[in-house]
Amino acid sequence: MKLASYAAQDATSRGRQYPEASPAHRSEYQRDRDRIIHSAAFRRLEYKTQVFINHEGDLFRTRLTHSIEVAQIARSVARALALNEDLTEAVALAHDLGHTPFGHSGQDALNECLHDHGGFEHNLQSLRVVDVLEERYAEFPGLNLTFETREGILKHCSVKNARELGELGRRFLDKTQPSLEAQLVNIADEIAYNNHDVDDGLRSGLLQIGQLKDVSLFAEQHAEVQRRYPDIAPRRAIYETVRRMINHVVTDLIDNSHRRIEASGIRHIDDVRRHPGPLVAYTADVGEKSRELKRFLRQNLYAHERVTQMMGEAVKVVRGLFEAFMHDPRLLPSQYQEKLRESDGTPGRARIVADYIAGMTDRYALREHARLLQPGV
Ligand code: MG
Repeated sequence: MKLASYAAQDATSRGRQYPEASPAHRSEYQRDRDRIIHSAAFRRLEYKTQVFINHEGDLFRTRLTHSIEVAQIARSVARALALNEDLTEAVALAHDLGHTPFGHSGQDALNECLHDHGGFEHNLQSLRVVDVLEERYAEFPGLNLTFETREGILKHCSVKNARELGELGRRFLDKTQPSLEAQLVNIADEIAYNNHDVDDGLRSGLLQIGQLKDVSLFAEQHAEVQRRYPDIAPRRAIYETVRRMINHVVTDLIDNSHRRIEASGIRHIDDVRRHPGPLVAYTADVGEKSRELKRFLRQNLYAHERVTQMMGEAVKVVRGLFEAFMHDPRLLPSQYQEKLRESDGTPGRARIVADYIAGMTDRYALREHARLLQPGV
């Protein structure tokens, strides 16, 4: 399919940190995507929490299935807008690679542990995974991805960190935009979790249909499903509703973004970067409804007693592990001890310990915690 002139393309790529010959049978962004899929961090996503701890049930989303759903939604939007599907997929599959075990609670706990050592931010950690921590190639550290894939992975960043990131951090200082592909993955991420959290929330019994009647995106589609299929079984009605919710917001996103791009007169990816504000966006109406759903999930699912209880445990595990490794680095695996010998003092040690903990899956963290801190249990 012919790409739009403003799509990211191999010919206009800002390249890789370590120059490499072009791939023989793939595009540059296909190669990025393939390297991400073959990384260890990608495989670990299977055992990391999205909202529900991985072993709570086989039907709940994990970070891996979430990432695949983001890629699916993002690719549909990319294709409809004649944008670069390979780049879109690469960014989508990599966007959560830096997540700690136990979702946001894990990340908050690790961030607190690193308070005096530069903090911890999962978005920046995703970049660190692909730039540094994956050691798989003889010729360079990390996966040596293209500028555009790395730009898409780094969704947000503090001014302090942006200054340290050179070219990649510049857009956070001069307030320019990333590629349209990066912009759309950001929204596809939100579409995926808003909708699958409704589905998982209802399946788990933590949310009830009755509560969702006040949330317009759900209520409108659910009413339509009831009207069209009055005899439908409740579980099937939920699937049909969620399917329609995704379709509704994705269609709005494609149509509205298309209009905005046309009206902007952009021709080239450089115009996209210079444009004042993102061009991939919902209409104001769907934007507001999507925020309403987000607020609902924050208040009713993420803050649900059963979720916060579980996450309270998770915080103890992350903290316990951090303190144990900081206190006695000999507890770390040998390759991390080697990195420690090459590093300089406490900030170096804290970062290495954080890299190790952030890479852990939920169950690995629980096992390590039991082994080191609850001997005999
Ligand atoms: Mg995500």
